[in-house]
Order: sequence, then structure tokens, then C-alpha cells
Amino acid sequence: MVREISVHQISEHICRMCIEANSSLGSDMRAGLARAVKEEVSPLGRKVLEQLKKNLEIAGQEQIPICQDTGMAVVFLEIGQEVHLIGGDLTDAVNEGVRRGYTDGYLRKSIVRDPILRENTGDNTPAVLHIKLVPGDQVKVILAPKGFGSENMSRIFMLKPADGLNGVKEAILSAVREAGPNACPPMVVGVGIGGTFEKCALIAKEALTRELDSSSEISWVADLEREMLIKINELGIGPGGLGGRVTAMGVNINTYPTHIAGLPVAVNICCHVNRHAVRVI
Ligand code: SF4
Repeated sequence: MVREISVHQISEHICRMCIEANSSLGSDMRAGLARAVKEEVSPLGRKVLEQLKKNLEIAGQEQIPICQDTGMAVVFLEIGQEVHLIGGDLTDAVNEGVRRGYTDGYLRKSIVRDPILRENTGDNTPAVLHIKLVPGDQVKVILAPKGFGSENMSRIFMLKPADGLNGVKEAILSAVREAGPNACPPMVVGVGIGGTFEKCALIAKEALTRELDSSSEISWVADLEREMLIKINELGIGPGGLGGRVTAMGVNINTYPTHIAGLPVAVNICCHVNRHAVRVI
């Protein structure tokens, strides 16, 4: 049975989600930050983490942005095959939600229309929109505003199959090492392994929207997530890049089948402001 959902409803949700995601983080990220304060051994690192925690509390109480960089709006839509979208163009509706959210919420408008000419669009549109068709009659909306301090430090490696698991580990560590303080640590590290050039980047981005404490269902991947978190935290970059134990709060890895001749690895780094809001309509 077909269920009708108006694109205006999606717009409304996205508008509110832009404001919500920019002023409060999920309970997983809040708990992660609280845990990081306890685990950090460097006094300076602990001080940075305490300030980040305080900043997060103030942003939530006063409904103001957690960071001045309110990000580029990345929107994942999972649309049930039984859904009939009515009331207009879906992409326009998503952008209308972003436009209103960033305007009504007084959020910084960070998007330029052309990557070289660099004229600000003035309303933080367009969003980056990813659409997936899934079974069912619901629409799941995930909004993840992405800051570019950490986005700029993300990397793709087109490894050869012979590079194997050790090559993957070195790729992840080299991306984080190179990111250093520029990614506003403590970070969350999203990794995509497999697929093609663009698919591994997409699954790395999706990995950032997973719960901080979640583990891959594939046992070797779950082991790799744990090992990488330990190794990243041994790099000593620390909170704010000022040295310490907590360089990353989590490593989430997604995988996908790939070609016999390749081993793509994407490392999408997010700062401690790993924002995402989720709605199911
Ligand atoms: S990378 Fe994150 S913490 Fe750093 S400026 Fe951008 S949004 Fe803010």
C-alpha cells in the first residue's frame, strides 16, 4: 500500500534538525566527551576537554551553535519504496529546510556557489544530498552538518590488494597523523574500506553517523576499530592538538565489496562536534 508523504513535511523536519544538530550533540557524543575527561592523563588536555564539555552544555542551554563553523548540511534520505512523495520537488524541499533552518537559527552561512569564484550563497544551500531506496513506507532523514576543519584533513587512498590489512592500518594512521591539530581533536574517525573511489568515501561519511560506541557486525572490522582507536590515541596528538591521550573518541569502519584489483580506503575525519540529527517520518 502506497503512503503519501508531503515534501513540505520533510522540509519542516530538516529546518528544525539544522538548529537542533548545531546546538546539541547526541547522548553518545556527550557521554564520549565525559569519558574522555576521565581518561585524559595530560592536565592541559583535560582542561581542553573540560572546556569543550562546558561549551557543549552552554550551547544546549542557550540554543546557540556549539561551534562557529556550523558546517555544510549533509543529508541522507532513506526512502521507503512504498512512499509516494507529493507536493513538489524533493531536492528543493531539502534545500528549503536548510535555508530556513540556517536563517531562523542564525547559523553561519558557509557555502559558496562556485568553488573557484567563491560567492557565498547567503543561506547555506545547497545541501549535499544522498538518497537511498529501501523497503517500507517511511522516510528516514539524517542531517549531519559537517565542519571543514576536519573535512579538509580527510583522505582517500587507492591501495593495491597486496597492501592488505597493514596497508589499511597505515593509511588510517597517516591520515590522522597528518590531520594533527587541524581537525580539532578529539576526533571521530569514519573509515570506508572497499567499493570504488566514490563509494568508499560515502561509506566513510556514513560511518560518522553511527553511534560512537557502536561496533561493526563483522568481527575483523570490529577488531580493527578497537585496534585503530588504541593506535590513534598512542600518537599523542591529544585534545586541541596540545598533547595527551585522547586524540580520538571513536573509530567507526564500514566496508563494501570491491574489485579484485583494488583496495580503496577513505578516512573521513570529524572533529569533536560530530553532529547529526535523525528523524523517521
Ligand atoms: S572542524 Fe569542527 S570544531 Fe573545528 S572549526 Fe570546524 S566544526 Fe568547529
